[in-house]
Amino acid sequence: METISIVGGGIAGLALAACLDPARFQVTVYEKRPELPTVGTALGMWPNAQRALDRIGVLGAARAVSPVIGSGSVRNAAGEPWVTVDGGEMFGISRIDLLRLLDSAVPGTVRRLTGQVQALPADDGLVVGADGVHSVIRRAAWGARSAATLTPYLALRGTLPFPVTPDVVGEYWGRGDLFGMAASNGGMFWYASYRSGRGPYGIDSTAVLEEARERFAGHAQAVREVLAAATPEACLVQRIWTAPGLHSFVRGRTVLIGDAAHAMLPTLGRGACESLVDAVTLADLLNTLPEDQALRAYNRQRRLRTRALSLASSALGRVALAEGAQPLRDRLLNLARRRKDRAAVGRGSTA
Ligand SMILES: Cc1cc2nc3c(=O)[nH]c(=O)nc-3n(C[C@H](O)[C@H](O)[C@H](O)COP(=O)(O)OP(=O)(O)OC[C@H]3O[C@@H](n4cnc5c(N)ncnc54)[C@H](O)[C@@H]3O)c2cc1C
Repeated sequence: METISIVGGGIAGLALAACLDPARFQVTVYEKRPELPTVGTALGMWPNAQRALDRIGVLGAARAVSPVIGSGSVRNAAGEPWVTVDGGEMFGISRIDLLRLLDSAVPGTVRRLTGQVQALPADDGLVVGADGVHSVIRRAAWGARSAATLTPYLALRGTLPFPVTPDVVGEYWGRGDLFGMAASNGGMFWYASYRSGRGPYGIDSTAVLEEARERFAGHAQAVREVLAAATPEACLVQRIWTAPGLHSFVRGRTVLIGDAAHAMLPTLGRGACESLVDAVTLADLLNTLPEDQALRAYNRQRRLRTRALSLASSALGRVALAEGAQPLRDRLLNLARRRKDRAAVGRGSTA
């Protein structure tokens, strides 16, 4: 049996462990958390992530616990929609449900070790770094210069046990901040982001919730109502970090997947989705090809695509969180909306 050590039993690590062929590999997952987390907000599952969930065998169960996101609008701070996007079959799954389902798909033959890995595991098998944005494995194999980068942004997220109506769903772009809300299992989830000097670690969610209430006081009523109802216990707050653009996700017999490879700004909501796709792609290649070929093919298939998404997320983040350029951005988006409205009226009068 070939041995594979997966460091990190989060979304990427569990998905990989679920898909590796147990007849061929002796797999060990190292996870520092003793239990699955109990607080977490929702993650939008794009079609490629849904295909990955199908491959893992949990798509049906994931759909059953997750509402379809439906259409949502990008809005100005007052709540007027600029652009409305149809989410199609996309659904929003709670991170807790996703981790639970992935965990249940991991075969019993996989060894689970609890504890924080400090360095590359010392056996001569393949090592997979699935240990998130602050990956110990990336730093051990790629060097100190591959350490995560702190962005100037903070993310505050939470859930509420009441439904959200379609006329307020979407993302509100203000001056240097954004606020979003969507349906989730049993209610809604919401998130806010803006520049902050707090942290970077151990940020107090009570203080940040207070700060957010003041910051968003001039926003649409729906935003104010959500923040008024939010409680610190049902909130997660963190500074956002990203991973550096690597020339390769593979070094010798070490390979990176998920946020360890490409943590990006969450503006496109793709990080978890791409982590699932990484895991399934790598597993299927390792299951069918010699290791060196599988690793080369994985790097070819995943590096440039995820790099493009990281760059696109950063570009969208600059627009969504624009400060100095906010008046210009708003004028352009207002113009685009008026042109679209006029075209719709024109089509109506010809019909
Ligand atoms: C504010 C915000 C909103 C987001 N929204 C979305 C969204 O809507 N859609 C989406 O697709 N993505 C979203 N993402 C991104 C998504 O959360 C990540 O891309 C995803 O969690 C990456 O999964 P992962 O398994 O690679 O890493 P992680 O989720 O970070 O998991 C890493 C695991 O490794 C463990 N670990 C870490 N270090 C060690 C160690 N040394 N030893 C042992 N174990 C270790 C950790 O405990 C953890 O369980 C968002 C991210 C943020 C910050």
